[in-house]
Amino acid sequence: MGGILDAAQRLLEEYRLCDNCLGRQFATLGHGMDNAERGRSLKNTLLLEAHSMIQAEDKAGVRLLRKLAAHGMFEAAAQTLRRLGVEAGKGKKEKCQLCRGKIQEIPQLAAEIAEKAKEFEFNTFLVGAKIPAQLLEAEDSVRARCGAEWGESMKSEFTREIGKTLSKLTGKQADFANPELVVTVSPFKNEFTLKANPLFVEGRYRKLVTGIPQSRWLCRRCGGKGCSFCGGTGKKYPESVQEILEAPILKLTEGEGAEFHAGGREDIDAQVLGSGRPFVVEVKNPRRRFIDLERVRREVNAGGRVEVLDLKLAGKDAVRRVKAAEASPKVYRFLVESTERLTEEDLDAVEKAFTDRVIRQLTPRRVLHRRADKERERRVYSLKAEKLSDSRFEVTLKCQGGLYVKELVDGDEGRTTPSIAEVLGKKVKCLRLSVIDIGGEEDEV
Ligand SMILES: [Zn+2]
Ligand SMILES: [Zn+2]
Repeated sequence: MGGILDAAQRLLEEYRLCDNCLGRQFATLGHGMDNAERGRSLKNTLLLEAHSMIQAEDKAGVRLLRKLAAHGMFEAAAQTLRRLGVEAGKGKKEKCQLCRGKIQEIPQLAAEIAEKAKEFEFNTFLVGAKIPAQLLEAEDSVRARCGAEWGESMKSEFTREIGKTLSKLTGKQADFANPELVVTVSPFKNEFTLKANPLFVEGRYRKLVTGIPQSRWLCRRCGGKGCSFCGGTGKKYPESVQEILEAPILKLTEGEGAEFHAGGREDIDAQVLGSGRPFVVEVKNPRRRFIDLERVRREVNAGGRVEVLDLKLAGKDAVRRVKAAEASPKVYRFLVESTERLTEEDLDAVEKAFTDRVIRQLTPRRVLHRRADKERERRVYSLKAEKLSDSRFEVTLKCQGGLYVKELVDGDEGRTTPSIAEVLGKKVKCLRLSVIDIGGEEDEV
């Protein structure tokens, strides 16, 4: 029975502790109350105990009351001493030795945070408190010395109390798994930072024109700084699918930057048609998260070069989902042009050769400058050829993601095999390549 009170008394004998810091040493005992209530209850009980000791003419009672008044910073103990006509002792106004009074400053600090948080749109938040290591260690040794083994850490109390106050002030909910706003507080430095977790905008895009790269393409001379070669833009191409999609999203979210994730990539001279290519724009530190996606869609589509479909807000799992589309089956359409005359037999031979066929490809010469030279195997599921003229036919190709299509046509000087050129025994090239479906089922087409 006396274990708790003894421990509380030992703590106050040695240390100056506010209600919270005393109560925190017993935080795992009792529910439905906070540490301030725990600490105050203990101080109240010790005061009654001390007063009864004095009435029983036990001198130790006065000593305990003085500790409560000085170390407990407990006004009722000081008052009781005065009523008894006892000098309370030099009542130096010092702060709690553990929290230095910072716990009592939480309401002001939380009010500042709530004010700053108005810059962000959010429904959920998470508070993380940074407590100097030497204070956490000091608390451990206080606890060990006084045999109080029911405590929680100061960090937990700061985190929870700031969170509770912030929730009251803002009406928003704390969320430990998936918070929209992350509040990092250093109460001992009176500092805090707010950072919004990324916002993910998922959709599919169609690239209606050629000549635009998928991602931002920096100038090779200056690496993006801007030079005379690139006319100061820092870029090789003035725009990209990435930039066209990111611009309205960044504008509406007021984010600090974005990352672009796509399910595979197309060459600059290839279109993306049909159902489009899946992508995710990951906005860093967005101020706004409740954005009008219909407006994004209108602004992107108004440019006439890229069209966006199925826009929606997503979780971060969208990145993995979209990346997975890279390996998923693709349907391409392109023209094959030959320098020699093409016959119906040629077309039949090509269709037959590329039904469920594994293609071996060494890294194409055109990308060797930026990719390692290695062999890959990709499957062609089906190929349909339609003759357009004596020198051209149109192909609809269904294949595994990651196949180099241009090289499937021209053979890349034997680095891709089999190829359409190899099957025909003729020199052919690929024209007007477009992606018309991404991520369909393998048994379709
Ligand atoms: Zn304290
Ligand atoms: Zn440049």
